[in-house]
Amino acid sequence: MPELPEVETVKRQISPAVKGRTILSIESKDSRNIKKISFEKFKQLVSGDKILNIERRAKYLLFKLKSGRYMVVHLGMAGRVLLKPDKYVKIIFNLSGRKKLYFSDTRLFGKIWLYDKYPELKLGPEPLEKSFTLKKFKELIKSRKGNIKIILMDQKFIAGIGNIYAAEALFLAGIHPKRRIESLTDSEISKLYQGIQKALKSGIMHKGTSVTDFVGAIGEEGKNQNYLYVYGRKGKPCKKCEGSVDKITLGQRGTYFCPKCQHML
Ligand SMILES: [Zn+2]
Repeated sequence: MPELPEVETVKRQISPAVKGRTILSIESKDSRNIKKISFEKFKQLVSGDKILNIERRAKYLLFKLKSGRYMVVHLGMAGRVLLKPDKYVKIIFNLSGRKKLYFSDTRLFGKIWLYDKYPELKLGPEPLEKSFTLKKFKELIKSRKGNIKIILMDQKFIAGIGNIYAAEALFLAGIHPKRRIESLTDSEISKLYQGIQKALKSGIMHKGTSVTDFVGAIGEEGKNQNYLYVYGRKGKPCKKCEGSVDKITLGQRGTYFCPKCQHML
């Protein structure tokens, strides 16, 4: 599933091409990704509106429209927002200046909503924003009990972290994924704070992690899979010690870690 770095990558790639353009018309091959309203209603409300800006919040893309409305896109498992079509295109936005924006999805878990104003999304803080300080992170940590990896992936705790970047952040911090959040020392909390930011920034710098379905806006794979320490590397040598990466199941998710680098205590 695309996480913060993948959605940020798409936002950065499509913004120059679509910002300031008017949505002239919308075509659909399959409109099941549009939620809460009919495709006819969606088309009627969005056609003629202008895309003022594209924002990202957690794993959501928010298209700010001139009418004040927001078109909100969640890629789900395998949704794609593209400037070049692929064979799974479901919805086509015909834009002014002969541009087109495509929404494609192989698995129908992607969602598109239309809101009258900026939506109230019940989400935790953005981990790469300046306001997300170590002090704030410590306060958040102290407010919770339970497994650290599962909590890191809770969008109401911190926004945008999923299975890949939670595993990477815990590796960078030297914390075993089975640890409970209330057992973390001050020094581990600081390392985790840095690990989260480092893992996410690496993902953005390398234009996303393409281990399953993720591609950027012109259909190109990201490169961050080549820079991962543990995710998807079961049995491969650890990049920091002489041991090898292991995989367990935690909260029903495959969880990668290095048993030598990541400590239980
Ligand atoms: Zn190791």
